[in-house]
Amino acid sequence: MSDQPVSLSGIGVCAGIAAGPLLRIAAVPALPPPTPVADTAAEVERAHAALAEVVADLERRADRASDSTIEGVLRAEAMMADDEMLRDGVREHVEAGQDAAHAIDAAFGSFREAFEAAGGYLAERVADLDDLRDRAVAVLLGLPMPGVPQPGHRYVLAARDLAPADTADLDPEQVVALVTEVGGPTSHTAILARALGLPAVVACPGVLDLAEGTLVLVDGAAGRVDAGIDEATAETARQGAVQAAAAVSGHTGPGQTADGYAVKLFANVGSAKNVPGADEVHAEGIGLFRTELLFLDRVQEPTLAEQVTAYREVFTAMAGRRVVIRTLDAGADKPLPFLNQEGEPNPALGVRGLRVARRRPQVLTTQLAAIAEARSATGADVWVMAPMVSTVAEATAFAAAVRDAGLPKAGVMIEVPAAALRAADLLKVVDFLSIGTNDLSQYTFAADRMCGDLADLLDPWQPALLQLIGVCGAAGRAVGKPVGVCGEAAADPALAPVLVGLGVTSLSMSPRALPAVRASLAGHTEGECRRLAELAVAAPDPAQARKLVT
Ligand code: PEP
Ligand code: MG
Repeated sequence: MSDQPVSLSGIGVCAGIAAGPLLRIAAVPALPPPTPVADTAAEVERAHAALAEVVADLERRADRASDSTIEGVLRAEAMMADDEMLRDGVREHVEAGQDAAHAIDAAFGSFREAFEAAGGYLAERVADLDDLRDRAVAVLLGLPMPGVPQPGHRYVLAARDLAPADTADLDPEQVVALVTEVGGPTSHTAILARALGLPAVVACPGVLDLAEGTLVLVDGAAGRVDAGIDEATAETARQGAVQAAAAVSGHTGPGQTADGYAVKLFANVGSAKNVPGADEVHAEGIGLFRTELLFLDRVQEPTLAEQVTAYREVFTAMAGRRVVIRTLDAGADKPLPFLNQEGEPNPALGVRGLRVARRRPQVLTTQLAAIAEARSATGADVWVMAPMVSTVAEATAFAAAVRDAGLPKAGVMIEVPAAALRAADLLKVVDFLSIGTNDLSQYTFAADRMCGDLADLLDPWQPALLQLIGVCGAAGRAVGKPVGVCGEAAADPALAPVLVGLGVTSLSMSPRALPAVRASLAGHTEGECRRLAELAVAAPDPAQARKLVT
């Protein structure tokens, strides 16, 4: 264990303080030397069985996943491993004389090359392919699956980045904080940390150089990792975290500023599985129901009846509280196999979100019909919004489709700078706006939301992003229509007063983030929020914005 105190900096993506020994993700298995194959058919079977075990393991973990985002990602990975072409490739390599482990390595290698050559979204899936290969090889060698340690005590998990498949193994009873060498504010690690309410620092160079077991203190708000601390310091930090959690949970009820200005606090969900109970975090409703997460593994379009069932479950679970449901946001980071979107050179700029309705209008009309049917069956307060809207014409057509389906409230997400700039015009044709800061950052800064190297550009405190949010907030104030934020920025307690000061009327986030955001709002008057917003927008960069506000 290192005794040398050292302080590392990164980007804090989930506030909170935790301390514990640092442990790394288990190493991937090394390929053993090749062995001659005596019985080709038996060797093919052994290799196929290993792939089947990987698929079964991913499916088991998807079944256990407490969060629908994690579940969707695991099912998508299972689908990649359960591929006929992959099995054929493995068979060909065994028939050419390779043993099962090398045949698997070679077959994944060919896929890897093809994915890299395709570029874009497929190239980003290369890490998933490597993860699947390592798992299959581990099965063949009789080794534990590579991944998250289960030492039976509390610890801080360190990794280069967290692969989606790692995330389901995270036991929040054992893992007290996450630190990754790469990643950004919208990476899988960040989303997972917020879903689990774990303090987390990403883009933290040097963390993997720390000795295994080093006692570290993680400050997820400051983006700092102090290594080589003593046990007394760690204990003080733990006590402080317990007290902070107690102080935050003391705030309950509807969101409001210190002087009673109401700010609705909603939860983001992907299925009925993660709908928070009314008393749990006091969510006033759902501000973002990501419907595509229900269908990530589907090769056929879900039927009207299947959709009605899925939506009904969520509407029923919310028992009268509001549900803002988003129509399918397919494409780029959320591909839906039944929409056949492969082959786009640049999927983030391709036919995604509402744009899919240009090619397949019936997918949207079926979904709206299903939402309308589920609404009438449950009497829920349902608002519908479209993702990836760029123009007033798109918003007009969407609002007409929503009304044709007999649904009362139509809104659009603000994820494209063009839409933010035209917020006032959009509000002439829709009832509300909801700002998706994850994509709005991506498109404002021309920075891929999955790219850890560009994490500084994706910082939600970027003054240019805040300025665009302010344009939307001002448009909403002028006509008295709601403008929410449902991207990850909404979960930052320090940023919440700034967003309210910019005119945002609701914040929607991972349920676990709600108590801290509620407590933060309760600490500021509306006038203070407006002043903080002015300071943040006028700041030259995110660091100064944070400093001026906090
Ligand atoms: C966003 O882009 O901020 C958003 C909420 O949508 P998603 O993260 O699902 O793209
Ligand atoms: Mg988005």
